[in-house]
Amino acid sequence: MILPLIKGLATTLRHVFSKPVTLQYPEEKRPVYPRFRGHPELVVNEDGTRRCVACTLCMVVCPSNAIKNIVPAEGPEHEKYPTQFVIDLTRCIFCGFCQEACPKAAIKLNNLYELAQYQKEVLILDIDRATQKKSEMRMPDWL
Ligand code: SF4
Ligand code: SF4
Repeated sequence: MILPLIKGLATTLRHVFSKPVTLQYPEEKRPVYPRFRGHPELVVNEDGTRRCVACTLCMVVCPSNAIKNIVPAEGPEHEKYPTQFVIDLTRCIFCGFCQEACPKAAIKLNNLYELAQYQKEVLILDIDRATQKKSEMRMPDWL
């Protein structure tokens, strides 16, 4: 009778002094594996310009039509860039084909996983919202 009680107390005490395995989510976020596939976004250069040249390859390979409405424009040196670019996260299956197909490494799946929304429209990203922003969830070497 007393032995199981002592065993139980010993187990409890052992766990009181061991490192917790749980996190205080959402205040604390669990770091994801480096190859984790979050949602796709447009990568920017050091100077803040987008790498995308509006070739539409990502749109062609996307199996779920999540990338739409890429509108190209041409700069003074004949460089191409998009003026519109839509990533529909309600359709995205996070396959990473767009990232693989892009010749400029201009689109990449980030490591963000909190995508739940009350309104569907919030998940349809225009070019500004689809453009990479530095976030605390991203690891410094995510590029
Ligand atoms: S991750 Fe896959 S489904 Fe999502 S936009 Fe890229 S190609 Fe399309
Ligand atoms: S993100 Fe890459 S593949 Fe898609 S349009 Fe831009 S340059 Fe082309």
